[in-house]
Amino acid sequence: MAISTINPATGKLIKSFEALNDTEIAAKLDLAQQAFEKYRKNTFGERSQWMEACADILDKEKAEFAKLMTLEMGKTYKSAIGEVEKCAWVCRYYAENAPKFLADVQAKTDASQSFIRYQPLGVILAVMPWNFPFWQVFRFAAPALMAGNVALVKHASNVPQCALMIEEIVRKAGFPQGVLQTLLIPGAKVAGLMADDRIKAATLTGSEPAGASLASAAGQEIKKVVLELGGSDPFIVLESADIEAAVATGTTARMLNNGQSCIAAKRFIVAETIADKFEQLLLEKFQSLKVGDPMEPDTNIGPLATGKILQDLDQQVQKCVQNGAKVLLGGHVVADMPGYFYLPTLITDIPPEHPIAKEEFFGPVAMLFRVPDINAAIKLANDTPFGLGASAWTNDPQEQKRLIEELEAGAVFINGMVKSDPRIPFGGIKRSGYGRELGIQGIQEFVNAKTVWVK
Ligand code: NAP
Repeated sequence: MAISTINPATGKLIKSFEALNDTEIAAKLDLAQQAFEKYRKNTFGERSQWMEACADILDKEKAEFAKLMTLEMGKTYKSAIGEVEKCAWVCRYYAENAPKFLADVQAKTDASQSFIRYQPLGVILAVMPWNFPFWQVFRFAAPALMAGNVALVKHASNVPQCALMIEEIVRKAGFPQGVLQTLLIPGAKVAGLMADDRIKAATLTGSEPAGASLASAAGQEIKKVVLELGGSDPFIVLESADIEAAVATGTTARMLNNGQSCIAAKRFIVAETIADKFEQLLLEKFQSLKVGDPMEPDTNIGPLATGKILQDLDQQVQKCVQNGAKVLLGGHVVADMPGYFYLPTLITDIPPEHPIAKEEFFGPVAMLFRVPDINAAIKLANDTPFGLGASAWTNDPQEQKRLIEELEAGAVFINGMVKSDPRIPFGGIKRSGYGRELGIQGIQEFVNAKTVWVK
């Protein structure tokens, strides 16, 4: 089976790779296992040095890596540069903090000495999405490798060149052979791998069906899984908010990565009293966005990553319209451009109880809902199967308290955009998944917290 990379800005095939066969997969598993036996004994000092070297390579060659991402999945080149820089940051963050995060923790018990020691689990399978092709891998790999685990990365099939490049970066940084390997295999092969004794745990970032499939296979084998799945994040704006700031940030939060981010602001929930103004300003902002060649510095929105994503998004928009929604802007594919471009789109009057209002829209489409008060805002925000992030705008301290307390999400950002940051944990509740990446919690997912008791 071929794994192909297609330029979404043109729809043209760039390159095809043959997927690994079973013998090749087995050889990679063997190598990973052998690498782990030695690598687990490397010191934090050694691992930190290699991780810092990764960061240096990322910084030095960011233009090349960014170009590759833009070519394979269509994000704007300028945002791809930012992504590579963020990868260097997460490498340095864990290079510096891992020894502290995983140091023995003393406990007072009836023993003469008792403590918790963190030890690596072994080979971790990481199933990754294409939307942040470098960041998703590094935010998993930096903590996992610093903890002494080794990684097998099954990246999304539309970004094979990014996947191979990441393996090359880790190798060039000096990590021992086999510490991070790329598995060029289709998604359908993943569940079967969970039965292999050499794989000790897995993480998956992607859609619900993929997460459910991996988690059931892991469940059969009693293996730990971290799941980072979809989201339909609310972006709540209440009366006391700074409307201009909310509109500017809301536009970025919805359109970032051509609208293909799990934590994008997908449902704008706005207090009735300010809704007309907010809607008008948001519309103007969306109208000012330039759709075009993602390599151009003044482009705001590039193509969607694949033809299928474009088609699915358009179908969702049409379904909204069939159910009474009003399209204020966009609402269709860009007809006169090759590739997979969709117009920035603003939809209102979607019946909030309709199932379509609860789906994730993975592209530059915003839904706007009007609510009478904060009670209705919180109720609507929580009325979704997802629980990834939530952004809420108000300058009233009492309202802020309630939003922090009552929003059902893995993260609540007040007067700011939901974003990932190496220093704070990232992850969801409900159907957005479980487990955490980043922060101290991220590095403690794939370790054995061993209790030691000595008399
Ligand atoms: P996807 O189809 O689930 O793909 C993600 C990864 O899973 C790919 O490597 C894919 O491989 C693999 N995969 C597909 N089917 C599988 C299966 N049955 N078993 C095991 N692995 C399988 O996801 P997507 O639609 O491309 O990505 C977008 C989704 O990811 C959105 O829902 C988005 O919200 C979510 N996401 C979440 C986060 C987060 O942190 N919570 C971050 C980014 C994206 P192939 O490419 O070979 O099919």
